[in-house]
Amino acid sequence: MKYAELQNYVAGGFVAPTKSRPSLDVYDPSSGDIISKVPLSEAADVDAAVHAARAAFPAWSAMPIKERVQVFYRYKALLEQHIDELAALVTEENGKIASEARAEVSKSAELTEFACSLPQITPGEVLEVSRGVECRIERFPLGVVASIAPFNFPNMVPNWTIPNAIALGNCMILKPSELVPISAGRIAELLAEAGLPPGVFQVVHGGKDAVEAICDHPDIAAVSFVGSTKVAKIVYKRATSNLKRCLALGGAKNHLIVMPDADREMAATNIVASMSGCAGQRCMAASVMVAVSKTDHIIERMAEVARTMVPGKDIGPVITAAAKERITRYIDEAEAKGAKVVVDGRKARVAGRENGYFLGPTIIDYVTPDMRIAQEEVFGPVLVIVRAPDVDAALEIENASTYGNAASVFTESGGVARYVMERASAGMVGVNVGVPVPREPFSFGGWNESKFGVGDITGRGSIEFWTQAKKMTTKWNREAGVNWMS
Ligand code: NAD
Repeated sequence: MKYAELQNYVAGGFVAPTKSRPSLDVYDPSSGDIISKVPLSEAADVDAAVHAARAAFPAWSAMPIKERVQVFYRYKALLEQHIDELAALVTEENGKIASEARAEVSKSAELTEFACSLPQITPGEVLEVSRGVECRIERFPLGVVASIAPFNFPNMVPNWTIPNAIALGNCMILKPSELVPISAGRIAELLAEAGLPPGVFQVVHGGKDAVEAICDHPDIAAVSFVGSTKVAKIVYKRATSNLKRCLALGGAKNHLIVMPDADREMAATNIVASMSGCAGQRCMAASVMVAVSKTDHIIERMAEVARTMVPGKDIGPVITAAAKERITRYIDEAEAKGAKVVVDGRKARVAGRENGYFLGPTIIDYVTPDMRIAQEEVFGPVLVIVRAPDVDAALEIENASTYGNAASVFTESGGVARYVMERASAGMVGVNVGVPVPREPFSFGGWNESKFGVGDITGRGSIEFWTQAKKMTTKWNREAGVNWMS
């Protein structure tokens, strides 16, 4: 085991659980080797973390925001300084290839940069409603908040929430995915090195029990969640029934509508990159290509590009042996129902890493909307192609999805692009962009069953979620002799 059994991070240091806890093995998905163990925390461990966060909150929240963000200027510099090491950790526990892991850590630095700008974009508002009478709004932190993360971005998703929530004055408990728990401890160390006072940030490891304890804890004011729709619903219901605010981002089934006039090379390379990047384990990945009318020339080029990709070099493994089996079953079932597997990644092997969970990019044509693979989230490097006669039929297919994270259209026509942008039922829409992630200050968040709750998780949309507004009315006009506002 390369790393010792992990520990929670509470009040500025790593701590053993209050009593012995069961633990899970942590795997390197590219080799199948066990690299660490993660403890499965329980309610008492969550309580210890909340206790530390509550103790830190008065001093941290009383500090002016311009002072609080100084920590994040230093944290951003540390992320950049340690990018090789942080990216290597991501590759080790998640499996993604080196360039993808570096891009993930760079994105964490970019997210932190946004947090550094919060003093400039959250100055409050004042209106003089009468001579000497003012109404003003100031935003206040909520207190102790929690962030629950998925396996697919061990560094970036925690950093969707850490810099903004903490810079806005909250103290946080992070519950990383038990499948990729190692990066979180390093994040805690770098935050401390950047000058974050003990207790402002905690890491509690574990799975379902830890999440339930977070949802139930009376002293946690808000919970953000990123993960599958199934668990997002559980967390949203449980947290809000305990009267907390909750923002729960769920899964996705992103549709790319490809028109016959699309630029062949650009569309083909973008779509293949979108479906295969991070081994398809991105909530923004292309999942269904809706091929409108005569688009065979684009599909042929996509197949050529996908066939050049080398597993282990251009595409990493999926997260677990079980995930590989699940994805393979989806492909087998579609094939058995009459779909045509144009590029087949099921037999991917990487020399020297025969126990890794590798799959090659897989493109399946002539899938029909009623098939399971066209409706459910596969979360692997698999693109299905559904044929449609025109743009309205394509939109009907996209609109029928229960999800609504992202959608894209590939076309050279501005009119068609606008038509799709207005009608796609998704929170993030692209034109000739395979992965339409909005950049800060714009916010990240989907529609339908891809997100539950109000607001978004990054950018400006997160400010409202992590703060509460105080509306203040003041009267300093004794000399005016009026008393219309008693
Ligand atoms: P997951 O839902 O299995 O796990 C997410 C978190 O929930 C983990 O921390 C896990 O410990 C916890 N959890 C798991 N089961 C639980 C239960 N029954 N009760 C309480 N907590 C539980 O998700 P995952 O497999 O880690 O991540 C992949 C999923 O995340 C995909 O569906 C993907 O689309 C989604 N995702 C969405 C976004 C987005 O922005 N919408 C971003 C990244 C990932």
